[in-house]
Order: sequence, then structure tokens, then C-alpha cells
Amino acid sequence: MKPERPETAAPEDAAARRARRPVIAYPPETLPGPDMALYRRLRANLRTVADVTVAPRDAACFRVGAGQFFRIHSVEGPQVGDLNLWHAGDLFERFFSGKTRALHGTHLSTGDRLWSVLPYLRPMATITHDTLDWYGFDADGGSVHDVIGTRCDPYTHALLSHGDQYHHCCHSNLTRALADETGLARREAELLVHDVLNVFMCTGFTRDTGQYFMKASPVRPGDYLEFFAEIDLLGALSACPGGDCSAEHSSDAAACHPLRVEILAPEPELAAAWQPPARNPYDGSHGA
Ligand SMILES: [Zn+2]
Repeated sequence: MKPERPETAAPEDAAARRARRPVIAYPPETLPGPDMALYRRLRANLRTVADVTVAPRDAACFRVGAGQFFRIHSVEGPQVGDLNLWHAGDLFERFFSGKTRALHGTHLSTGDRLWSVLPYLRPMATITHDTLDWYGFDADGGSVHDVIGTRCDPYTHALLSHGDQYHHCCHSNLTRALADETGLARREAELLVHDVLNVFMCTGFTRDTGQYFMKASPVRPGDYLEFFAEIDLLGALSACPGGDCSAEHSSDAAACHPLRVEILAPEPELAAAWQPPARNPYDGSHGA
């Protein structure tokens, strides 16, 4: 945080320096854009092919073929979910929350894409529907579906609580789910767990101190966030122990609810019009 009383005196031209105009660092207009008209045609006629329930304070894995959709549903009560994505054929290619944030902003909605880490950097999934898109940004600067939080984890909790051991943080839930799904040792699986998309969570930064905050999620049963899988995906979703994250996480105090992941397939003849994303065009030589 910035000091309340800076030790360094402001220079004479401080006001002028602060008044410089911000420039969007990564204007997304030149990105390979999603063909939303095609996705709308594809999603008009979907058939459910799999259904996965994520138990409260736990995580579950699911698989989505390239060209299929998946929906994360709120069921029973307000609940936030922590989402990890890997390329099903190469678990080193996983979701890059930081670059996704730099490209699309702090909170995602329809038309935004979930990008994979370097050296892959290509769209893994595209958001095709968001029943909470009406929320926008609230008076606190909060919004839903952020890529600014990392995931609740037992290491940070142990530091903040002077050693308390809590085993159902999203990080641990995702680790157990990935190990169970793949047969990887828990330690190997843990190293593949990564920063998440915080589905349905309402978060922001305080205007005065720039601190990460959360507030009660506006999600209600019946809401869903829908994605189109651009590549074959292995996903893991944790139903955060924070429940709707209105008070605390990393404990068993909050009311928690399950989440549902539905995998859906479009009509095969329509799907034939879709092309998978190209490999990243950088040559990988790093000038060497
Ligand atoms: Zn969590």
C-alpha cells in the first residue's frame, strides 16, 4: 500500500505528471477476435453431453472437447467458484489469468477469452453467455468474474492466522481434484494448479487504498456463465469455502452450496463452420 505520509517530497511538476492521459496498454481490437455470430448460431441448439456436480468446499474435474460448450451453473444458493483450465493433451498449457486481465480487464464477460500461458498464448475458451452481465461495476468499483484474485490457499491462511491448518481452500480442492483425475502425485498436481477465473465472485480494489476486496456475490440459482472450448480442455472447479464470499473464506464458517458444470455439444453440421485457434505466431527464438 502507498504510505499515508510519503517520505519523499512531491516535485514541483507533480500535478502535471499526474495529469498525463492513460493509454490502454493492450488494445484488444487487433487480437484474433471470436466470431460471436457463429457462436450464437452454435449455442442456439445445444445438447447436454455431461453433467458434473461440484460439492461445497470441494472441487471436481470435467473434460470439454474443442468445439463444445460448458456452463457453470449456480444451484441451491449463492456460491462462487474458482476455475482452472488446462489443455487436455498438455497440462503445461494452462490458463494465464494475468495476461487475460491485461488484455480484457479485471472482470470478464461475454466475448472475452481465456488465454493460455507463455509460450502457448492462444485462446483456450471464449465466454459466450453471462447471466450476470447486467451487474456491470457497482458504486464500490466491484464486479463479478474477476481475474485479479488468485485463489484462496492454505499457505496464505496459515500466515495470516499464525499457523492455522485449513484443508478446503480452493487451492487444496483443485490440487486434490487434479491428482484424482490424472493420477499425478499430489505434489505434481499442486504445481499445475494456477491463478483462477473467480466465477460469480464480486470483487474489486478499494478506491482509497487499492486493496483487494470482496462482497456478497449477486449470483442466484439459475444464473450461469457459459464458455466455448477453443481447444480440448481439462477443467477443475472449486466451490469456494467462502460461499458467496460476503464475509470470510478459508474456514468452515460460510454457508456453501454446490455448483454444476454442464457440458454441451452443438449440432455437428453447424460446428463444421468453426476453426480452432492458430498456434501463436511468435517464432520462439528470443533473438538468440
Ligand atoms: Zn476459494
